Amino acid sequence: MRLDRFLSETTPLTRSLAKRALKGGKVTVNGVAVKQAATHVVMEDEVRFNGERLALVGLRYVMLHKPADVECTARRGLYPRAIDLIDLPKAERLQPVGRLDVDTTGLLLLTDDGQWSHRVTSPRHRCDKVYLAELAEPLEGAAAERAEAQVREGILLEDDDTPTAPATLELLTPTQAKLTLTEGRYHQVKRMFGALGNRVVALHRHSIGSIALPDTLAPGEWRELSAEEIARF
Ligand code: URA
Repeated sequence: MRLDRFLSETTPLTRSLAKRALKGGKVTVNGVAVKQAATHVVMEDEVRFNGERLALVGLRYVMLHKPADVECTARRGLYPRAIDLIDLPKAERLQPVGRLDVDTTGLLLLTDDGQWSHRVTSPRHRCDKVYLAELAEPLEGAAAERAEAQVREGILLEDDDTPTAPATLELLTPTQAKLTLTEGRYHQVKRMFGALGNRVVALHRHSIGSIALPDTLAPGEWRELSAEEIARF
């Protein structure tokens, strides 16, 4: 890897600031000051910036308790972004693993490992995502049974070519529903309840596969996943 790229990967410096730091003699490779940005460095080289040893970071895996009024986009917009809450170097490289709407709360996984993200989100891998939805209209009795059957069989949503994959609806109370999906279509939970003649007034993602949001993680808080959690997918 070129030395200026190595610096921009391992410090907050941009490529052009890295070049300036190099010209200023602030960077050493194996104890020798190096000024050429194009110098090739490998993992084994000891690169120091202002005397501090730099190391490439590996792939990262994070869980965030997403609060409402936070966006899962990379662009800066009206609301703070999920990555703005994550105090890690180069947090903007982390991608949400299945987005949540701005008003949805709960478990958001983020990573820079595209293959891992695909395993979690691809419907082929049938990874359960559990949502808790607060409904505008009470759903009970025969109507609840009909809704549970429709969700189990699949619902053809407006603008979609295929019905939703078989899912599970469980009513915790007439207005509190637990919905378990293996897909992640655009606004899926809200559109499914819309198709059932209801409306979601609050939505929270409780878990993804066997990873549930821990009670110890308050809204806005995050932590890195353990190696064991990463290996579950
Ligand atoms: N389904 C939705 O409608 N919104 C979300 O944020 C997640 C799933």
